Amino acid sequence: MANQQLDALITGATIITMDSERRIFANGALAINGTHIVDIGPTKDIEEKYTAKRTIDGRDFIITPGFINGHVHITGDPLTRGFMPDTIDYRDNDQFLKWVLPRYFAHTPQDEYVSAKLAAHEMLRCGITCFLEAGTIRNVDEAAAGLTEMGIRARIGVWTEGRPHTPDEDPAQTTRSAIQAMEKVIADYPKEPEALLVAWPLLVGHNTNTDDVWRAAKSLADKHGLGISAHMSPYISDTKWYEEHTGKAPLEHLNDLGVLGNNVTLTHLAHLSDNELSLLIESGTNAVFCPLAALKGAFGISNSGRFPEMAKANVNIALGTDGYDCDIMRLMPLASGIFKDMHEDFSLFSAHSMLEMVTVNGAKALGMSDEIGALEAGKKADFICHDINRPELRPLHNPVNQLVWSADGRGIHSVWVNGECLIENYRSTRFDEKAFYHDVQKTGEDLIKRADLPLVSPWPIIS
Ligand SMILES: [Zn+2]
Repeated sequence: MANQQLDALITGATIITMDSERRIFANGALAINGTHIVDIGPTKDIEEKYTAKRTIDGRDFIITPGFINGHVHITGDPLTRGFMPDTIDYRDNDQFLKWVLPRYFAHTPQDEYVSAKLAAHEMLRCGITCFLEAGTIRNVDEAAAGLTEMGIRARIGVWTEGRPHTPDEDPAQTTRSAIQAMEKVIADYPKEPEALLVAWPLLVGHNTNTDDVWRAAKSLADKHGLGISAHMSPYISDTKWYEEHTGKAPLEHLNDLGVLGNNVTLTHLAHLSDNELSLLIESGTNAVFCPLAALKGAFGISNSGRFPEMAKANVNIALGTDGYDCDIMRLMPLASGIFKDMHEDFSLFSAHSMLEMVTVNGAKALGMSDEIGALEAGKKADFICHDINRPELRPLHNPVNQLVWSADGRGIHSVWVNGECLIENYRSTRFDEKAFYHDVQKTGEDLIKRADLPLVSPWPIIS
């Protein structure tokens, strides 16, 4: 019988499948047709069954599923990062109003397009093939256009805050507008099997939403088979606000509203009471941990973080890059190390569990376990080829330990999404990176001028 003809075969690779048995093939092959993986196994078995238009020698690669970023701001931060001094305490409302919001509000629709492209490109270069947006896009169509050009997979949405900022706003109207905006974006980017971009109700969270907006978000998610995402409790201030205004801790209040559940993803959760931890566990709500944001933002995570208890109780924990660096591989040792050290316990957060967080756990948090997160027949062809001919991966003994503790995104040679190779030999296959960086520089500088923020440097910058 003639061999089945496919689009692509990668042979001879070390493949970390992340399938239900967590099989690792030391000499494996991946068979791809269209947007999907059609087969995976030992190279000799796969070669007997298939021929392909393109066969790639994978002997220099470790292949993993594409990484899934559980929380990232694709606009607001990418074009302005590094500008705010890292010594600013933005828990102080005056500092927040001075340094954080003006950067976001100075974005034009065109800026959000460029910002989304930059974020997607950086994520792809670092092996992230799918992400959940953090809920701060203001011009969704422009951001989506940038993402579509790059070919990344994502769950996106519109900036949703239902609580008035100023006394002259009508609270009922603000809530209504927030709900209508969620309904519109869900209608515009519906959940369809081949859609790379699907909209979710994405709430800024904290204390920015009225009860009606929380309830509407959950009911829209339930009705359309989507999830919802929100920030909660990076600082104890969220707990204090909820206690003062509702008499309950944040997760207790959300539970009273009927908002918790396995299609809900809450990011940060650095401060949780015993009862909130129980509610998180019982409800099946997903948690996203952003270790760099926690450390840079002085959350107190190494004093009060309860992620080890969550992991022990099988809470689904994913990792997020938040507004900072998009190299999620750098976050794995950071997240593990914080809690190993905090509890002086080697057994916490092994390398293998960290790789789960950025693959299968991320897929579960995004409600996409059937499609992505593992390399199996029938799943989308979203994967990464890590170059092993680099000092950090030689000699290669244990690919999982070495990827987590020694390697980072600099060693990612190629990245495939939906059966298409978007990064090859460290570079985009879709566009001229150098010309793009030139545009990005100008866009970022113009944006900072409009935001009217001072450049602060303790050292002289001589032009
Ligand atoms: Zn965030």
